[in-house]
Amino acid sequence: MEPEPHAMMSCPYNKAHQVEHYRFHVHLQKCRRQYPNCNKVSCPLDATHIVNDVELDYHVKNVCTKRILFESQLYVTDDEARAPEVIIPAPVSTDENWDDENVSSYKPDLSKKASNIIVKPRGLAPAERRKLRMENIKTYRPQEDQ
Ligand SMILES: [Zn+2]
Ligand SMILES: [Zn+2]
Repeated sequence: MEPEPHAMMSCPYNKAHQVEHYRFHVHLQKCRRQYPNCNKVSCPLDATHIVNDVELDYHVKNVCTKRILFESQLYVTDDEARAPEVIIPAPVSTDENWDDENVSSYKPDLSKKASNIIVKPRGLAPAERRKLRMENIKTYRPQEDQ
């Protein structure tokens, strides 16, 4: 929740300091100097942030979260600009093994599945077989339930 810019906040160094939210960070910078011996803690969101422990709550809610949001938005924008979505067509899957001429276990029932059988030509030159296969592919229609 974003406090109103003019909402009064208590200074973590001195509760008597009531500071408007929009200039709270400026006040913190000034007040911080009055308390040079404050305990330092590292931010739970980014260990490289060393803040006075009394400021940690303010830092996490108002400084660090905004920074992380800002950087993540930058990252997304930059990433999209550099890597446009590439749509790779899914490979057409087929159970047919065109190069295996030694299939012996598969005995098609021509009377039931004639329309779905691709006849493998035999006794033709490789180029002619290939051409015939391509013609078969064009007319091949898979079964509905496959
Ligand atoms: Zn203060
Ligand atoms: Zn932080």
